[in-house]
Amino acid sequence: MILDTEIRNQLNEYLKLMENDVLIKVSAGTDSVSKDMMSLVEELATMSSKIKVEKTKLDRTPSFSINRPDKDIGIAFAGIPLGHEFTSLVLALLHVSGRPPKIDNRIADQIKKLKGKLHFETYISLSCHNCPEVVQSLNIMSVLNPDISHTMIDGAAFKEEVDSKDILAVPAIYLNGEFFAGGRMSLEEILSKLDPTSGDIDYSHKETFDVLVIGGGPAGASAAIYAARKGIRTGLVAERFGGQVNDTLGIENFISVKYTEGPKLVASFEDHVRDYDVDIMLGQRVKNIDKNDLIHVELENGGILKSKTLIIASGARWRNIGVPGEQEYKNKGVAYCPHCDGPLFKGKHVAVIGGGNSGIEAAIDLAGVVSHVTVMEFLPELKADKVLQERLNSLENITVLKNVQTKEITGASKVNGITYIERDTGTERHIDLDGVFVQIGLVPNTDWVGSQLDRNSMGEIIVDKNNATNIPGVFAAGDCTDSSHKQIIISMGAGANSALSAFDYLIRN
Ligand SMILES: Cc1cc2nc3c(=O)[nH]c(=O)nc-3n(C[C@H](O)[C@H](O)[C@H](O)COP(=O)(O)OP(=O)(O)OC[C@H]3O[C@@H](n4cnc5c(N)ncnc54)[C@H](O)[C@@H]3O)c2cc1C
Repeated sequence: MILDTEIRNQLNEYLKLMENDVLIKVSAGTDSVSKDMMSLVEELATMSSKIKVEKTKLDRTPSFSINRPDKDIGIAFAGIPLGHEFTSLVLALLHVSGRPPKIDNRIADQIKKLKGKLHFETYISLSCHNCPEVVQSLNIMSVLNPDISHTMIDGAAFKEEVDSKDILAVPAIYLNGEFFAGGRMSLEEILSKLDPTSGDIDYSHKETFDVLVIGGGPAGASAAIYAARKGIRTGLVAERFGGQVNDTLGIENFISVKYTEGPKLVASFEDHVRDYDVDIMLGQRVKNIDKNDLIHVELENGGILKSKTLIIASGARWRNIGVPGEQEYKNKGVAYCPHCDGPLFKGKHVAVIGGGNSGIEAAIDLAGVVSHVTVMEFLPELKADKVLQERLNSLENITVLKNVQTKEITGASKVNGITYIERDTGTERHIDLDGVFVQIGLVPNTDWVGSQLDRNSMGEIIVDKNNATNIPGVFAAGDCTDSSHKQIIISMGAGANSALSAFDYLIRN
């Protein structure tokens, strides 16, 4: 048996939700991956009388497609969708069986209206926590529109294909054979790339909000719940729900939950917010705010939202190193997510730029997969916690270069090295390597807020103990502010504080 008892128990419950029969068509050879895939599919068939299995020949072997008995749906898995992709397999079975995907009706209508044959292929790794959202979104599109099809391809099982396409970051999405996009994408983002007008929703009819929250990370989610619980008109506008938590693998410091994973926590944030009367507007970027009598929030699609109070919870994003080669070789050897892209550098030499906690965690993580890791730190000493440094020092395949400045990431069709300067001697050196992981911290997402709002030299919004900014009625919370520490639980506390302060402001004004 491929599945362990705990997973089988969980799966048994999910398979009870299947509405109609599904037919799994399997293309298997005699290799070990094919054998394991066959075992998985046969095991699934023993668990539900609604799952039938048939042998066939598909474009890739080993692979299998999930269909209705009378109709091919276009969803295929090349390789074995275990690890982070197991949920994608379960959802595909449920959706193909007729259980409707949990998405807005507006989005479902947009998917159904897409015209022309669209065949997507997504290269993933089973340790990539950013890949399932893409795989599940494209599978949903395949279920809803007969002209859309999607194959998930495990890069480890189809290494030659990955090498021939120079894929060094996952998820890597191809559309009709051409590169379409890389990195985590929500369903809304995929739609907006296919049809840039898909996010142009007219919000002009919306009534003025009492509290409008910008951001759907921990700070925004908590602010929206606290505001809605006061019974006031609450809105939440965000590019994507969950913020940085989407990019987090293991979380062990969310008090009362000993261990969870980013995407799981994000799903429960969203579920909790949706329990309240909050007007949620996702897939929207705010580009400006202006305060007269009311606060006007301008969206990139041209729409304007009006509110009596505003809570900015727009968080932070990865900082770029800003040297030649970084942009040119993004997804071609320059990476930011060790969990996702580490397996693609198996047996190779990589550099990690940054000697803080995230850099050293990345180096330790990568050392288990790659042949050698070179850590490059700008300062004369590493800044990471002592416990991490001790672990780092115990690993033989890590070299640490301190007091060095990255000058250029070099390459041809993909990264082939890094040039750096020894800061004490001024000597320039070059090392040949295959990948560079940039881990030099975060920048606040505040470049759009304009000059009315006071920010510090790092661009963080300055707030007081009530999370109030210098503009009356405008509050800010979480990683976009000058709070001393940036953590999930701290952002949530600040979100709650800002909502209570906004309510207080509404009572007094
Ligand atoms: C790899 C990684 C691992 C981490 N691990 C942990 C951990 O184990 N434990 C822990 O406590 N913390 C961890 N953190 C830190 C934690 O994730 C952050 O402190 C927290 O997510 C901050 O929450 P936030 O709501 O302030 O911002 P974010 O999570 O950054 O959310 C920002 C929100 O604003 C939206 N947004 C941004 N700009 C706009 C705009 N212009 N218009 C509309 N919407 C916009 C985004 O789409 C998003 O919804 C980790 C962070 C990273 C990157």
